[in-house]
Amino acid sequence: MNENQAVAASADYIEVKRKLCDFCGTCVAVCPVDCIYLNEHDIIIDHDVCNLCMNCVKVCPLHIIYHVEARI
Ligand code: SF4
Ligand code: SF4
Repeated sequence: MNENQAVAASADYIEVKRKLCDFCGTCVAVCPVDCIYLNEHDIIIDHDVCNLCMNCVKVCPLHIIYHVEARI
């Protein structure tokens, strides 16, 4: 991996299609760093804390959480 690739990887993030979420809480339960904030109206991921483990991406039953690869 060259220097530019390293920068791109560190800028990746996890996104949620918030309007499609049914607030089931499955993703919150598997996040190792507790950076998914959920209530009955909204879901927010703290990108500064997320470690890109992909647990939430794998378990969301609606498949609405996804990995965004940074493009530089
Ligand atoms: S990718 Fe991992 S650390 Fe980031 S929000 Fe999902 S479960 Fe949490
Ligand atoms: S697992 Fe999916 S549907 Fe459930 S709260 Fe998380 S983002 Fe929403």
